[in-house]
Amino acid sequence: MAGILVYALHDDEGNFNKNSLGAVSEAARLAGELGTEAGVVVVGDVSDDAAAGLGAYGAKKVHRAKDVPEGLAQPIVDVMAKVMQDEGYDYALFGGGLLGFEVGAGLTARLNAGVTMEVTAVKVSDGKLVAERPVLQDSAIVDVGYVGEPGIIIGRLNAFDMDEGGDGSAEVADVDVELSDWSTKATMVERGEARGEDVNIEDADILVGGGRGLGKAESFELAEQLAEALGGAVAATRAVVDAGWYPYAAQIGQTGKTVAPKLYLAAGISGAIQHKVGMQSSENILAINKDPNAPIFEFADLGVVGDLHKILPKLTEAVKAKKGG
Ligand SMILES: Cc1cc2nc3c(=O)[nH]c(=O)nc-3n(C[C@H](O)[C@H](O)[C@H](O)COP(=O)(O)OP(=O)(O)OC[C@H]3O[C@@H](n4cnc5c(N)ncnc54)[C@H](O)[C@@H]3O)c2cc1C
Repeated sequence: MAGILVYALHDDEGNFNKNSLGAVSEAARLAGELGTEAGVVVVGDVSDDAAAGLGAYGAKKVHRAKDVPEGLAQPIVDVMAKVMQDEGYDYALFGGGLLGFEVGAGLTARLNAGVTMEVTAVKVSDGKLVAERPVLQDSAIVDVGYVGEPGIIIGRLNAFDMDEGGDGSAEVADVDVELSDWSTKATMVERGEARGEDVNIEDADILVGGGRGLGKAESFELAEQLAEALGGAVAATRAVVDAGWYPYAAQIGQTGKTVAPKLYLAAGISGAIQHKVGMQSSENILAINKDPNAPIFEFADLGVVGDLHKILPKLTEAVKAKKGG
């Protein structure tokens, strides 16, 4: 059966992450246009109900490799490669994120396939998938097609929207995979997820990003109070993480995480390119900075010039008042 295969990552409680569910939804949409089906690979301890539940996002079949550990790229490449070949999938689509990039790159090498990375949209043209990829610092978008099969598409983190418009439960099939020798060299010692407060910043719809303009570690309380009022989470620049003002897990940018929330509120952040690359896909960027020439204003949707120490508390009060609390 031809089709599009997705890898869905889950946490230790069996919850699939938003990025993966977006990729499943996108594969289902594209498969519908191509007249094929979307399949999903899951590994490790995933219950029948959780696996079948991927049908709600449009998956038709879930290939489950129970004995393969979640979180290590090479064993997942083994599973994906076997399923791609045995079932004849034409494309593999990943939602991005560190593991998606690593598994996608490994699968490309293993299958001698063509790959497009940092994809922001995918369309169907003449019965084939064409990936759209921003280039030249996102000033232009190129269409990338595939001359052979299979084609591997690796999205930017959260590039694809979740859609629970699927028509029911997916068929679940267990797969036995013999892992390659090199795939078993690394073992999972411990799996954990770095979370800011209780929210994973990569999944948060609203982020309040704090930079050096906060002045000191204690001022992060201002960002935390606003994030709490908005129902979001706190992110940070590398400058403040390096200064020990906030945990590394919250760092956004080239050497941190990539996020794409509905709202990114940047407080006291200059907008350096290394920070920008991690948050530029946010739907709305609001910047508060006392310097009207700060680079962040060049790509913010809304800019407020002023002292964040005065603005953040007032904004928090206003949000609370609006929400009636
Ligand atoms: C290889 C490499 C990788 C890097 N990776 C990353 C990365 O992943 N993520 C990242 O963030 N950075 C990264 N950086 C660092 C990056 O270049 C910047 O130094 C950093 O992003 C700046 O952080 P900032 O905006 O908090 O601080 P600054 O650049 O110092 O900006 C502080 C801003 O706060 C404003 N401000 C000051 N006081 C107030 C106030 N009271 N009210 C309102 N505004 C105020 C100032 O006008 C200024 O614009 C990297 C650098 C390199 C070389």
